[in-house]
Amino acid sequence: MQASTEQTIRQVVQQVLAQLAASGSTGTRPAGSPGVPGQNWGVFETVDAAVEAAQKGFEKLVRAPLEQRRTAIDIVKRICEEQAEELGRLEFEETKIGRLDHKIAKLQAIRTVPGVEFLRTEAVSGEHGLTITEYAPFGVIGAITPVTHSLPTLAGNFVNMVAAGNTIVCNPHPSGARIACEGVRRFNKAIFAATGLENLVTIIGKPTIDSAQAVFDHRGVRLLVVTGGPAVARAALRSSRRAIVAGPGNPPVVVDATADINNAARSIVAGAAFDNNLLCIGEKEVFAVKEIFDSLMAAVGNHGGYRLNASQISQFTAKAFGPPKEPGGHHVLNRDFIGKDPSWLAAQIGLSIPERTQILYGETDEHNPFVSEEQMMPFVPFVRANCPDHAIALARKYEHGFGHTAIIHSRDVHTITKMARIMNTTLFVKNGPCMAGLGLGGEGFLSFSIATPTGEGVTSPLTFTRQRRCVMVEDLRII
Ligand code: NAD
Repeated sequence: MQASTEQTIRQVVQQVLAQLAASGSTGTRPAGSPGVPGQNWGVFETVDAAVEAAQKGFEKLVRAPLEQRRTAIDIVKRICEEQAEELGRLEFEETKIGRLDHKIAKLQAIRTVPGVEFLRTEAVSGEHGLTITEYAPFGVIGAITPVTHSLPTLAGNFVNMVAAGNTIVCNPHPSGARIACEGVRRFNKAIFAATGLENLVTIIGKPTIDSAQAVFDHRGVRLLVVTGGPAVARAALRSSRRAIVAGPGNPPVVVDATADINNAARSIVAGAAFDNNLLCIGEKEVFAVKEIFDSLMAAVGNHGGYRLNASQISQFTAKAFGPPKEPGGHHVLNRDFIGKDPSWLAAQIGLSIPERTQILYGETDEHNPFVSEEQMMPFVPFVRANCPDHAIALARKYEHGFGHTAIIHSRDVHTITKMARIMNTTLFVKNGPCMAGLGLGGEGFLSFSIATPTGEGVTSPLTFTRQRRCVMVEDLRII
């Protein structure tokens, strides 16, 4: 009787809190006391305060029933889905890169990130007894997130990391910090209302390179998860703390003479156009064999590509890249061009193109910087290769050994197998767009952090767990 009264009171309190959270009210809690939900809902000025709050959040989470992890994850997925239009627009307005429709789609896709269901206890029984292996959390995880998918990466990391029982302190990219903070506030508010759990994710409100370094070095951070480009990947690999590094890519596409040319063209356009080619897995350069090169170029035009001629390509390249800082070094990418629409890019060389254009493309040789650099904009260079082996060799050269993503369009199983072995990438997609590698149009699940140099692959809740073995000698085996 008493238990059911308590349950009813708890339900009523949770409903009231949920209504307060939904109405945006901060409730009657005193403002200003550290870590009190309602004061900042997880947004902090200093790394020390953010880690302390995430640690307290962890201590509560670790004692909470598994069901509450499920509730927290369901809330994050629901917010991402139901508020995708508003949050996607906020991210687009703040970062000014990519495409609004795809910002929304990335948030809606968070529902396909795996959660608690991935944590299956393993058991071995025999005449010596029973041994189980369970998946335990680390504690507070330090997450560094990119501007290319600020809230989607944070939300995807949340689902994976909280499913595994961890809490998070996030240092977002400064140019995507406002939307990341807004997501953190919404997540924490709704989770507190439903479960009483606090600060499952905390965030630095005004992040800098120094605050990123402070997260790297903080004694309260048990594990680092870094999603970003070459500089931050190198910094994380040098860190004394264990780091899971989701680093840069420059995904090549090979098309051989056996390919379904129409499907290859459609897939290349769909992948490279997605969020204006901001995806680290996106098609960045194509090596097509000479037999089908011209028909592939024509087919790309039929699927929303706008072809630039040689002189337009050289004008455009000169605007998109500066010369290398040192001889033989990297061409310097003009960051104003990143993630811009094809029509905006074309206008930079005085071209007016149809609004519905998905990508710009054209024939280049392998020495054009669009081939070697991760351009993150919807211009795709196509290079003529002599044969499949030549195309694969070029793909290998310009993937730079990142071990990230490679794509092939072919019906020849020997060529496919050969390229898979040679490239040795984390994702290898055949006969589809890059997104198929993350379960969007292919089998498998989604994550926005694909751990490449450190080898964990497409991250899942299991990536963020410690394995603990528990052994009973002789007893507990019942057959
Ligand atoms: P970025 O490297 O500029 O920034 C990523 C994050 O690292 C930001 O939070 C930034 O503030 C921080 N940062 C940058 N330099 C740092 C340093 N020296 N020390 C500490 N922190 C530092 O990358 P971006 O432009 O935001 O994102 C695009 C890059 O990220 C591309 O290279 C892309 O391939 C890569 N990426 C990889 C994955 C993956 O899963 N492997 C996913 C998304 C993006």
